[in-house]
Parts: sequence; structure tokens; C-alpha cells
Amino acid sequence: MEIFHISAECYPVAKVGGLADVVGALPKYQNNAGHHVRVVIPCYDSKFKNENEFECVHWGHVKLGSFHFPFNVLKEKTDKLGFELYLIEIPELFDRKEVYGYQDDIERFLSFQIASLDWIIGRNEVPDVINCHDHHTGLIPFMMLYCHKYKKLQNTPSMITIHNGLYQGQFGFDKLHYLPEFDLAHVNVLEWDNSINSLAVGIKCAWAVTTVSPNYLNEINYSANGLESLFNLVRYKSRGILNGIDIEVWDPAKDNMLEKNYSIKNFEKGKQENKEKLCNLFNLDPRKPLFSFIGRLLEEKGGDLLPHAAALALSENYNQINILILGSGNPIIENQLNSLLADYKGNYNTFIGYNEELAHLIYAGSDFLLMPSRVEPCGLNQMYSLRYGTIPIVRRTGGLKDTVIDFGDDGNGICHDQATVGDVCYSIQRAVDLYDDKKHLNKIRKIGMSTDHSWERVCQEYIEMYNLIIKKK
Ligand code: ADP
Repeated sequence: MEIFHISAECYPVAKVGGLADVVGALPKYQNNAGHHVRVVIPCYDSKFKNENEFECVHWGHVKLGSFHFPFNVLKEKTDKLGFELYLIEIPELFDRKEVYGYQDDIERFLSFQIASLDWIIGRNEVPDVINCHDHHTGLIPFMMLYCHKYKKLQNTPSMITIHNGLYQGQFGFDKLHYLPEFDLAHVNVLEWDNSINSLAVGIKCAWAVTTVSPNYLNEINYSANGLESLFNLVRYKSRGILNGIDIEVWDPAKDNMLEKNYSIKNFEKGKQENKEKLCNLFNLDPRKPLFSFIGRLLEEKGGDLLPHAAALALSENYNQINILILGSGNPIIENQLNSLLADYKGNYNTFIGYNEELAHLIYAGSDFLLMPSRVEPCGLNQMYSLRYGTIPIVRRTGGLKDTVIDFGDDGNGICHDQATVGDVCYSIQRAVDLYDDKKHLNKIRKIGMSTDHSWERVCQEYIEMYNLIIKKK
């Protein structure tokens, strides 16, 4: 089967969060399973772009209303990622360091979508299926169905995978003329709540919709930032498929970002060496349990709970625990977290920013990983921490509910129900007690380390979904 993935992120080329990890891994496993997979993302000013060789396989220009943007399609020459990688180079819009956060993001991602389709229709064969990811590619299924110049793709099945329904890429009808010409009889398909909503359009027009966990699919029927009724309407073509993890990248036995590699056979010693390295770096005490957090410091991740929970847990335990935070996001949360540094020196530290290498070391060297999320469509951190023998402490929501079971029910982690400081601290207290019972602690770590979250198993579910829509042709 010939599969195209079109996305804003792909690890290791451009990563902001879990979307990149998924688009960098799933295609590789689909390729290994015998499919011909291509991944298409914008060409940012990235280290990967500058350090690898590309060939230009197509060029043209995107017309966005009265603007014209020249573009090239660059293919990475060696397929070193395990699939064919294509970068859509639109220098004026994407030759920048960051993936998102610019005033012209609507123009940027619209141009990216149009350039991708212009290239695809210029090829001899049409793909068997196009898998779009999140709102940045949500207009593609609409354009394939209704734009005159993409008529060739009218019968090509499209699927949209929703990694996070909170972000929807809305814009006003004043930008309607940016879209390539289409039959105006279908203009209302673009509308949701008086604006053009890219994610809603993708959900309406794609032949199938997937979310990144089964439980998130249930949750968005009653909590989806305004799209609840739409999700109810498209339930018939939706499925929740739990993300996998790339077990080649995330392998404590081979991970070259660790101080010491280890496996389930020698994890106690291996984890301790990584913990010592971490504690040295951050002035913490390696004899005390280490609680960490990795992620975007936003309310959706429960980031606002962290400063209060950390202060309370550290005071209640008379500094008998360590807490380490890696992340960035809301400046108020960042400041609150930094303001605790003076009071809890030696037991608490932060790294405000993004650091892939440090994240790996934290998964390996921590005892517990905090995930007090309000919204977590799937969550990959808990699966990485399980694989690295670190016990996740999660709020039961989204994919966290699908992957973490409380140790009181013979599970692999610690769970609470409310996104409150009280619930987080209660879970930390349970973890402190567990830490003193090494036999029990290690039993739970082993359960986590032996859980199979690999894409090999999951990737087949995507293929089944593609086959279902291909049959509808
Ligand atoms: P989301 O995509 O919502 O941010 P996920 O749990 O799906 O959350 O994926 C998060 C990914 O981003 C993981 O690979 C995690 O290790 C990584 N990550 C998040 N924040 C940071 C950070 N500050 N430094 C390094 N890696 C980070």
C-alpha cells in the first residue's frame, strides 16, 4: 500500500511534542511491514536539514489569494529515517527556527497544504491513502474532495489523526480566497462556529478519523473545545488507536543519551547510576526518591499545579524527597517554579527550556514521573517512563487512563482522579511510602518495563483502518 503522512512535525527533523514522535515512528514500522510510506513536512531551518543531503524532486509556486510563494519539494537522499522523507521548502514562510507561534501561521500551513497537494497531483500515481495529522493539515481532505485542481484525488481516501483536539486552526472567512478554487455549493462545509475551522473541516471531510487513544475518543464526545457535537456525528467513522513508542529510540539498553545503559535484568544498578548523574547535575540527593516532570508547562498538562504541589510535598516530607522539572510554556508557571529554588535548595531544581538529551536522562534516572494532566489525548511520557523503569504518577484522563493502572490494582503506576494539588500530593505521599518498600517498588518497575507498547503491534490497526476506507472507494 502507498501511504502519505502529511504533518507539521516529525522526529528528529522538527519536534515540539508527541506529534513528532508519532510521525517519526509509525511510518517506519509501516514501511517495515511492507508498505511504501512517505512523510511530508514543511522545511524549517533545522539542524537535520542543514546536516543531511537532499534532492529537489519537484518545484512550483503556491498561490494564496494574490500572493505567490515559490516552493521546492526536497527528498532526503538516503531514507535514513526508515521511510521517504520529503520537505516542502517555502523559504519565505518556513525558513525559521520555530515550528509554530508566528502571526502568519495560517498562511504558512495553508501554503504547506496546497504545495503538498500540488506536488502529489503532479506525480504519475495517486497514493492509496493520505493520512493527515492535526489541524495543520485539516484542510487537505476538503481540498481533495472539492477543489477543481485536485479532482484527480477525489477518490483517494483520506484519514485525519487527532493528536490534540484543543488546537483547531480557526480563521476568518476573509481568508476564504486563499483556498484554491472550489465549488461554492460546498462552502458551508468549511464553517464551524462562524469561522473556518481547519480541524473541524478535516473531521467532516476525511473518510476516517482516528484519535491517539480509545479513551480520548470517548472524552471528546463531551469535552472537545467546542467540537463535541461534531465528534458525536462522526462517531461512525472514528476509532481510537493507542499510540505506540519507538522502541529503537526509547531503549534503556541502547540509549546513547544515558550515563549507563541497563535492561530489566540490571535496572536497579543502571537506574541508580543515571540518578546519580542527574543529582550531580542538579544538586539533588541521590538517596532520596526523585520525582520529575517533563513537558509543556501549560494548564492542559496540569503545569499550574506543579509549583503548589512541589512546595507542599517538599514541606510535608521535610525535604526527604527530590523534585526536578524540565519544561517551558506559560511564563507565570515558569516564574513560580523558579521562585521555589531558594527555599528548597538541594531538594528541588528546574530546567526551563527544551532539552531532548536531558529528557532521556530524566526518564532513566528518576524514580517517579509526574503527569497531573487535565487533557492528555494519549501521552507518550508515561510509556517512556514505564520502559525506563520509572513509575508514572498520572491523573486518570485520556490515554493515561488507557495505559496506567494503579499499583493498588496490581498495575504499573500511581493514579488519581482530580487535577488538584491535593490529589497530586496524596499520590506523591503514596509513592514515598512505596519507595521504602524496595521489593514492591521493583516489582512494579518490572511490570512497567515488560509492557509492550511498541508500534509493531499498533501499526496494524492503522493499516486495518486504511483498508476499511479503501474498500469504500
Ligand atoms: P504533548 O505532545 O502533548 O506535548 P506527549 O506526551 O504526547 O505530549 O509528548 C511529549 C514529547 O515531548 C515527549 O517525547 C517528551 O519527552 C518531549 N518533551 C516535552 N517537553 C520537553 C522538554 N522540555 N524537553 C525535552 N523533551 C520534551
